[in-house]
Amino acid sequence: MNLPSFQYFEPRSVKEASRLLRQGKGRGKILAGGTDLLNLMRMRSETPSFLVNLGALKELSFIRYDKAGGLRIGALTSLAAITESAEVRVRCPMLAQAAEKIASPQMRNAATLGGNILLDTKCPYYNQTPLWFESGIRCLKAGGDECLAVKGEKSCYAFWSSDTVPPLIALGARVKIVTAEKGRWLNLDKLYTGLGDKPVKIAADEILTEVLIPASSCRMKGAYLRFSQRETIDFPVVSVAVAAAVSRQGKIARLRIVAGGVDSAPKRLLRAEGLLRGKIMDGALAPAAAAMAAREVAPIKDVFYPSRFKRDVLRALVEDGILAALDAKEKRSPDGEA
Ligand SMILES: Cc1cc2nc3c(=O)[nH]c(=O)nc-3n(C[C@H](O)[C@H](O)[C@H](O)COP(=O)(O)OP(=O)(O)OC[C@H]3O[C@@H](n4cnc5c(N)ncnc54)[C@H](O)[C@@H]3O)c2cc1C
Ligand code: SF4
Repeated sequence: MNLPSFQYFEPRSVKEASRLLRQGKGRGKILAGGTDLLNLMRMRSETPSFLVNLGALKELSFIRYDKAGGLRIGALTSLAAITESAEVRVRCPMLAQAAEKIASPQMRNAATLGGNILLDTKCPYYNQTPLWFESGIRCLKAGGDECLAVKGEKSCYAFWSSDTVPPLIALGARVKIVTAEKGRWLNLDKLYTGLGDKPVKIAADEILTEVLIPASSCRMKGAYLRFSQRETIDFPVVSVAVAAAVSRQGKIARLRIVAGGVDSAPKRLLRAEGLLRGKIMDGALAPAAAAMAAREVAPIKDVFYPSRFKRDVLRALVEDGILAALDAKEKRSPDGEA
């Protein structure tokens, strides 16, 4: 399917990119790897009048670790670079595991971390061809009057299903958002609105430039698990990231459990976390926390999966994720430092 026509810009700096976007008053879009955006444009779900390609901004592609600050990853870093980075594999292995599950090797060469963090939500009634829309079936997000997945509803419930985001939130990641004049840092989980048709809080002239995983999180153990229809080239149906730190006495001192695919934003499973925090792991705790997690979510039924099925999958992934995370070996740096 052809792309619609659009103007194309290749700015030489983040400031220039932000100014171009501001002048466009919402009619322009940032192009990173294009693996999601260009598909949406082919489907005519997105019709920006111009694209601002960040490809020339090599300074946004980097992976750096320092003991005090933590692990910093530029927004334009490719998913392939993340999976191959010794620094990421040792400091935050579950991020490398998650990136490795995305799409295919060819797509991971083009796809970027920033694009994955700002991925649009997905829904079988919206991610459709122009032919489908010509038949008159148009839901709220596609400009119609009401939601088709939850009949008659005036809100959108499309699912958040980016793979890198649950691990990043579990690791307490922060993101830097920049305009031509200023920059701000915010906790990654604060970037999401929970609204299926407008999932991220980012202004038209704002650019995500980097992600920071604090040094204290780089010492946490972790696991990322997902269920998808196909092993490769497919989005997760449900995903779970668990990050944990255990005290010298064997108690779970810090813990975050984050799910994808069950809501319009990545979801912290706070009650399940509360059940485990401060406890010494025993055989009954992981299933109890997993059952609690399943009660914390209410995924809508979509055309492929009933809500009950997603809850059951989530319960299994949370139980396995807790056990896998707590079993994960203590981490060592590439140079042997603990
Ligand atoms: C067949 C197929 C399978 C896929 N499988 C998966 C999967 O398993 N898991 C998964 O998570 N994803 C999957 N994807 C989606 C997509 O490939 C990835 O999410 C990818 O990481 C998106 O990154 P990108 O650089 O290509 O983003 P783009 O498509 O370039 O951009 C995505 C969005 O982010 C915005 N954006 C990008 N960078 C910035 C920035 N720095 N600042 C502000 N806004 C920005 C763009 O304007 C756009 O709205 C799949 C896609 C396809 C087509
Ligand atoms: S959840 Fe409803 S409004 Fe949102 S994309 Fe799906 S059908 Fe459309």
